[in-house]
Amino acid sequence: MRKQTELPLTIDPFRAAGRAQQLAGRIAIADMARLAESLAASTGSAVVRLAFDTDEAKVPHVNGELVADLQLECQRCLQSFTHQIVSQFRLGLLHSEADAANLSPSYEPWVVTAGELILRDMIEEELLISLPIVPMHDAASCPVGAAQLDSSDPLSDESQAHNPFSVIEKLCGKETV
Ligand SMILES: [Zn+2]
Repeated sequence: MRKQTELPLTIDPFRAAGRAQQLAGRIAIADMARLAESLAASTGSAVVRLAFDTDEAKVPHVNGELVADLQLECQRCLQSFTHQIVSQFRLGLLHSEADAANLSPSYEPWVVTAGELILRDMIEEELLISLPIVPMHDAASCPVGAAQLDSSDPLSDESQAHNPFSVIEKLCGKETV
């Protein structure tokens, strides 16, 4: 079990696909520099499972699953919060960009240069595209969001809840009164 906890830095993905190799392990968030730029703190690690294989059409590919708890900065209250990303991906492994045209749409293309797949780059890319565009707490757990709920939302609810008769009165005019 111990040898599964660290992913290798690189792998020959075509060889791995030929052998239907499976890998599981962790990659430290702090090792992903581009991702870290988008985070409030680069703590923790991504837990990854990868299954390399070739399909009936002999397309080498990798099916991946990842889970990562990322520290994001809430854009409403500017405090950090934990956002869990759970992602599944399916990458077709290509020798060059030109091969992407022939790839089945059931795969995302991933071009492997120099016969080596840098696992960290692949996982980092998956995490980057899974990030929320505007990271925010749920309104209920955000200090600012909760304040907004307290001050505005109940009021509008109240005005709707308390005024149905005034609306009806307006609609029906004086004839019904
Ligand atoms: Zn917040």
